[in-house]
Order: sequence, then C-alpha cells, then structure tokens
Amino acid sequence: MDSNELMEMADRYGAHNYKPLPVVIDRAEGVYMFDCEGKRYLDFLACYSALNQGHGHPRIVEAARRQLGRLTLTSRAFHNAEMGPFLKEICEYTGAEMALPMNTGAEAVETVIKAARKWAYRIKGVPRDQAEIVVCADNFHGRTVTAVSFSTETLYREDFGPYTPGFKVIPFGDAGALEDAITSCTAAFLVEPIQGEAGVNIPPDGYLAAVREITRSHDVLLIADEIQTGFGRTGRRFCCDHEGVKPDLMSLGKALGGGVYPVSAAVGRADVLGLFRPGEHGSTFGGNPLACAVARESLKVLEEERLHERSATLGAAFLEALRAVPHPLVKEVRGRGLFIGMELLPEAGGARRYCEALMERGLLCKETHDNVIRFAPPLIIEPEQLDWALDQVRDVLSEI
Ligand SMILES: *Cc1c(COP(=O)(O)O)cnc(C)c1O
Repeated sequence: MDSNELMEMADRYGAHNYKPLPVVIDRAEGVYMFDCEGKRYLDFLACYSALNQGHGHPRIVEAARRQLGRLTLTSRAFHNAEMGPFLKEICEYTGAEMALPMNTGAEAVETVIKAARKWAYRIKGVPRDQAEIVVCADNFHGRTVTAVSFSTETLYREDFGPYTPGFKVIPFGDAGALEDAITSCTAAFLVEPIQGEAGVNIPPDGYLAAVREITRSHDVLLIADEIQTGFGRTGRRFCCDHEGVKPDLMSLGKALGGGVYPVSAAVGRADVLGLFRPGEHGSTFGGNPLACAVARESLKVLEEERLHERSATLGAAFLEALRAVPHPLVKEVRGRGLFIGMELLPEAGGARRYCEALMERGLLCKETHDNVIRFAPPLIIEPEQLDWALDQVRDVLSEI
C-alpha cells in the first residue's frame, strides 16, 4: 500500500484527535525516518523528546530483545527481577530517594498529584478534601480528566467537564504570584521548568530557585513535570539542574523508554512517595520487566553517551545560528539545549505551512499552537546534520 492509501485508511477508521503532517513513516534509524516510498527525513521532533536516544538505538533494542525472550509481564502481584535494579538506577540517576513506576506521562502526573494530596492530609494536616495544588497558566500535564481540569487551553478542556476541583492557576514565570496563591491548604506547586507544549516558554532566570525557596518556606511540595524537559533535552540531566534546584517530586516519562516502550515514573522524597500503602495506587503494566529492562538501558545510554552535554553544546550553537537567520516574520527564537522554539509573528500566517515546506525538504518538525515551530531532534544528532537542518530552515524562511 502507498502512503496515500494508508492515510485514507487511518482517516476512515481512526478518531480524528490528531492532525498529522501528510507523511507515513515506515522505518527509522538514528535521527532519520523513511516514508513508505523510501524518502528520507531528518526527525526534528523526536516524538516530543521520547526519542532523545534516537530511533532504534542498538543497545536499547538489544536490551528489549533479550528481555522479550526471557520475561515480559508478571503483574505487581509478584516481584520481577528487573524492577529492583530499575528503581535503584532511576533513583541514582535522578538523585531521588524513591520511585513509583507507571507507563505514560499522564499516569506519572496523576501519581504525583495523588502523592501530594496524601502527604497534605497525612503529614501537613490539611483538612480532608481541602488540599489545593497550584499550577501555571498554559501548562501541559497530559490528557486525563484531572490534567485537563486545570489546563487553560480551551481546546484541551472545553467539552470534557465536569472538572476535578482542587487546583489554582497562576501565571507562569511569576514567583510572586506563587507566594500570593499559597494558603494553609496548599499541598504542592506543579510546574514544567520550561513549558514545551505551550511553545518552549522559558521562565525568567532565577524563577526555579525562587519557587524552590517559596515552597520550602511554606511547607509546600515542589513538583517538577520533567516528562519533556528531562533526560538531557535542555542540556542538563534535568531542567531544574540549571538552577541547582531539587524538586520534592518529579514526573518522568518519554525518553525514559528510549523510544522503544512507554515507561514513566514518579520519583522523589521517600517521606512522600512512601506514604502509599498496598492497594492505594497501582497499574497493571507499571514496573513490568520489559519496561524496566528498556528503561535501565535507556538511562545507561543517556549517561554513557553524555547526551545532556551534547544537547548543551550543539543546542547553544544551533540556537545562535538560528537567531542569525534574518527574517522579518520571526518574532523570537528561544531555547535551552536542543529544545528550541521559533515563534513567528501572526502575519506569517501560522507555523503549519512552514512545517509542511520543511517536510517537503526532508525535515520533520511540528508546529505547537499556531505560531511556534519546535525544534527538538534526537540528542545523538551530529553537527553536520544540524547544519543541513539550518540550511533547510533558512531556505524555507526565505521562500515563504
Ligand atoms: C508528554 C507530556 C505529558 C503526558 O505524557 P503522555 O505520555 O503523553 O501521557 C505530561 N507532561 C508533559 C510536560 C509532557 O510533555
């Protein structure tokens, strides 16, 4: 079947909850993807940072193969031989005391929210069902009813009420607003250190350190959602590392599965995650041996290939080069590491057609909201490949 037939089939039988670019990927290797007709594309999205280690990383694929032939699933009714080592290694990698394994990012977010509420009732002494979690405008924390309940994006939430109560929204990047929002019932502040879906929004310098200080002094948990910003994407292992900030809890996912398998986790303080008692929270597939084997190798690859350092060096050079591309319709180019957003002025007529033009040239990126193109290639990318991508961006900007 050719690409057009495959797209028609997806369109006919699938719900239309996405609007993909008109390209059908059939295989991939490293930073390259190939469509059904054999055309090669440079992947400049990396599945929203789930592919930091690149497509089909030989070591991660081999770890998966080995585990596939040995043991894939047990349920948490029994121990499995991969889970203990995975939990130890994710704690060592993140500096956390304890971890709780799940599958998708949305579930990791759900887990940190439940942990924070439980901590508020059991430890902080907030009256039952009064706990509040402060979140930021333009946040993205997944697609569950609870996560969209505190989204400020109409598209994400409009038809999905009634909403989960217990959340208070403040502006992103405004530490003073957090101080003002906190009450005796505040359990936690949940924040993305850089807002990815909102368009690579970077808070002012010192923001993370300031909210760490405020949360600490008010006995409020600081929860960083590092699902997209973590695992080297922004040039450090975690984005909070840029300001030497250690959150009380983190939600992790995406690159933890090395582009091979969905793996997520809530990690953090033992006096918070340790409050869960048997039966209070769980997941059929969470912590399964295949997931744990894949995640263990994914972490090893990140560390041994120093992917966070590559991201810092290559990202800084690419950002500078992008900023030097003259174009009257580019409002701003911002980023940290290989996590870069190019915001176009409204007069540009939307980012979508730029992404389509880049696709024609073999560079695959995706607009986020209307006017931002996100550049986030696998962190294994080579400088020459980034140079080629820059040429394509430059040409498309000069053509349109
Ligand atoms: C992707 C993402 C999520 C949701 O992860 P899923 O695996 O899609 O459920 C949550 N938070 C952030 C910051 C994300 O980027």
